[in-house]
Amino acid sequence: MKLILLGAPGAGKGTQAEVICNKFSIPAISTGNIIREALKNGTEMGLKAKSYMDEGKLVPDDVVIGIIQERLAKDDCKNGFILDGFPRTIPQAEALDAMGVEIDRVVSIEVPDEKIVERMSGRRVCEKCGASYHMLYKKPAKEDVCDACGGALIRRKDDAPETVQDRLKVYHEQTEPLKDYYAKSGKLRTVEGQEEVADTTRLMLAALEA
Ligand code: ADP
Ligand code: ZN
Repeated sequence: MKLILLGAPGAGKGTQAEVICNKFSIPAISTGNIIREALKNGTEMGLKAKSYMDEGKLVPDDVVIGIIQERLAKDDCKNGFILDGFPRTIPQAEALDAMGVEIDRVVSIEVPDEKIVERMSGRRVCEKCGASYHMLYKKPAKEDVCDACGGALIRRKDDAPETVQDRLKVYHEQTEPLKDYYAKSGKLRTVEGQEEVADTTRLMLAALEA
């Protein structure tokens, strides 16, 4: 299955991608995670992306398209994949089409802006392995410590409240038009994001069948 997850930053794409990729044994590919990893490793691409990311802006299309092209060429993508955070603009979606990638389903997780702002303030990530947590919805066993690797949990710079507003604006202006783009080919399904992760997952799985 080749699946795209759409939704505002903080709508829960990453969390759902993790659950669904385990269920179907396909990789979840997050451009955000790939960029943060590159940044941590001090690669040229990472450094180029940093300023955009910190300000809540999108990294230029050619950079992320290159990242995705490279990633999708890997062996583990043969039986399908979940794209989390790509495409985020119409040109990125067109590039995916031009690569000959045939997407089966696009699921948009809908969460009102007010809720997003509230959620983002509780979000934490592991400094070491990138695993994500939430102070209300997905607490680590031990406060501020990663369950998976023991790393410290920190707030991403771009999760600061002022930056979240900018990211929402970018989402509505540049990413939301993708819903129309994929609705035209009949691939779009929308799901209301729920308080409980498992409830959203249930709706998502139903949307994949429909
Ligand atoms: P979230 O889904 O929580 O917004 P991500 O981790 O997906 O966060 O992305 C964080 C940042 O990485 C974005 O704000 C943007 O700067 C950059 N980024 C990730 N994916 C893309 C993309 N497809 N196009 C452009 N920029 C991207
Ligand atoms: Zn960790």
